[in-house]
Amino acid sequence: MPRVAIVGGGLCGFVAYLTLRRAGIEDVTVFSPDADPAATFRVRATAIRQTHMRSESDGHCLPTSFPGLAVRESLARRSVAPVVASVLDRYHATVGTFLAHVEEQRVRSGWSPVPTRIDRICAVDGGFDLGGRGVFEHVLVATGHPGLAVPEELRDDPRVVHAYEPHDYAESVCVVGAGLAAATEWRNASAAGARVTSVRRREPVQRPLNVPRPLLTKRGLARFHRLADDARAAELHDLLAPSYPREAHVDVPVETHVNGADQVIAATGFLRGYRHDPLLAPLVEEHELATVNGWIALAPDATVPRLTDRGRTLALAGVAAQWSYPAADTLMGARYVAHGFARRCRTR
Ligand SMILES: Cc1cc2nc3c(=O)[nH]c(=O)nc-3n(C[C@H](O)[C@H](O)[C@H](O)COP(=O)(O)OP(=O)(O)OC[C@H]3O[C@@H](n4cnc5c(N)ncnc54)[C@H](O)[C@@H]3O)c2cc1C
Repeated sequence: MPRVAIVGGGLCGFVAYLTLRRAGIEDVTVFSPDADPAATFRVRATAIRQTHMRSESDGHCLPTSFPGLAVRESLARRSVAPVVASVLDRYHATVGTFLAHVEEQRVRSGWSPVPTRIDRICAVDGGFDLGGRGVFEHVLVATGHPGLAVPEELRDDPRVVHAYEPHDYAESVCVVGAGLAAATEWRNASAAGARVTSVRRREPVQRPLNVPRPLLTKRGLARFHRLADDARAAELHDLLAPSYPREAHVDVPVETHVNGADQVIAATGFLRGYRHDPLLAPLVEEHELATVNGWIALAPDATVPRLTDRGRTLALAGVAAQWSYPAADTLMGARYVAHGFARRCRTR
């Protein structure tokens, strides 16, 4: 039986764990300081007062898209409305329903991560040494974003809180940024009675939230995988630019600087790229992995080509896997990576 490990027990690690179990791979070791797979998500979703899942019917942790939470809600409410909404791609579970589902699956699946952080991954004969915690043949790295991004000039300003950190609102609030978190915070702070201003480098891009549907199809994804490295990096850059759906727009006065506000909310997203990641940066350097513009150049199934062969697998999940699947930082993307990884574990 191959030795299988998942490093990182957030939502992507959890989806992979459930998928491996469903594929009959029982012996999976998860390393994570968080026992609750939704720990990080919960803090961030609560911070921006998110009430409904952004994703449609695919937004759950189960190994297959169907039955998702719409079916479960239809049964609970004895109403076909959620399923009908799901068929029309209009179903968004509440965050409460989603978190209850994560908890139910956590208990039912026997999820119990080894409560530790892995500080080094090193390729050795026949597998990977995980910081002295054992050698595993197949390893999925699912350690999430490497950190929250705060603009250099705001870093020492005591008025600053990141949008994804817990916060209330002061009387006057300046929101920095132009993506979905910024739009959400314009609305939240206004609703809390604050005087709200916006500081942004450029006019907001208004477009649908999820990646364009062709990229979720086999054909569209194959086209993406065929792109030359530079073209793929450029396409990802455009896809990941801050944006929000038209209906999320709120008119607030635009300022050129944050001076004068009681509170500054940095709705400025995450640090991006392997260089910020304490686990991936040394991995790239020590094993001379191919990279493009801050991305580790992964194979279409999110494995690291140089460190994956018939006997062993190193794969990345979550934001680091967007090189392979642009929506990899969503639950649907977690499922894509998980299935590829399960195939490797089963057949190698
Ligand atoms: C506010 C918000 C709302 C979102 N809404 C949706 C939505 O509606 N639908 C959707 O599909 N997606 C949504 N997403 C996107 C996505 O589902 C989340 O970003 C998801 O939580 C990412 O999971 P992850 O496992 O990659 O990272 P995380 O959840 O951050 O988990 C990473 C885990 O790895 C652990 N870890 C880190 N380093 C190490 C290490 N060295 N060793 C061991 N463990 C380590 C961490 O402690 C953590 O437990 C949302 C994201 C945000 C921020």
